[in-house]
Amino acid sequence: MTTTLLEDFLSGETDRVLHATWQVLGSRDPDLVDPLVPHVARIRKATEKLNLGGLIRPNSANVEFALAKLEHRANRSCWCEDYPGPEHRDPRKEEDAGNIRILSTSEPGWSMTYECECTICGRIYDVEQGDYHVMWWRWRPRGVKRPKS
Ligand SMILES: [Zn+2]
Repeated sequence: MTTTLLEDFLSGETDRVLHATWQVLGSRDPDLVDPLVPHVARIRKATEKLNLGGLIRPNSANVEFALAKLEHRANRSCWCEDYPGPEHRDPRKEEDAGNIRILSTSEPGWSMTYECECTICGRIYDVEQGDYHVMWWRWRPRGVKRPKS
C-alpha cells in the first residue's frame, strides 16, 4: 500500500497524486506516513510542474502541505505541528479523535475561540473559529519560546 502511495505521488497523474496527498494529510499512521519521508525531494520534483487544479485554493498547496507534514516527521516533530497549516481542522473533531483536549472555549457561537492542548506533547493552541462562506479554524501555537534577553 505504501509503495502504491509513493507510486501515486510519482505518477504524474492528477487523480493519483491527489489521492496520495489526501491519504497523507488524513493519516497519523506511522506505517503509512514514515516510508514516504525519505522521498520528499523526489515527490516535490515529480509534482511541482503538474497542474493539479483546485477551486478554492490550488491543489498544489495541498501537495506542498503533505510534503511539509513528511518533513515534520523527518524532524521528529509532533503531529500537532501540522495544525497551523491550511487544513483548518475542526477542534471538536480533533478532540473526538483523541488528538487534543479542549481546555476552554469562549461563548459558543459562529465566531468563537478554543484553547486546546495536544494530547501527545502538551502544546497549547489558541484556535479561532470563523465563518466566511465555509467555517474555518485558525490554529496558533501558544508559548513559542522567545530567546531570553
Ligand atoms: Zn503535539
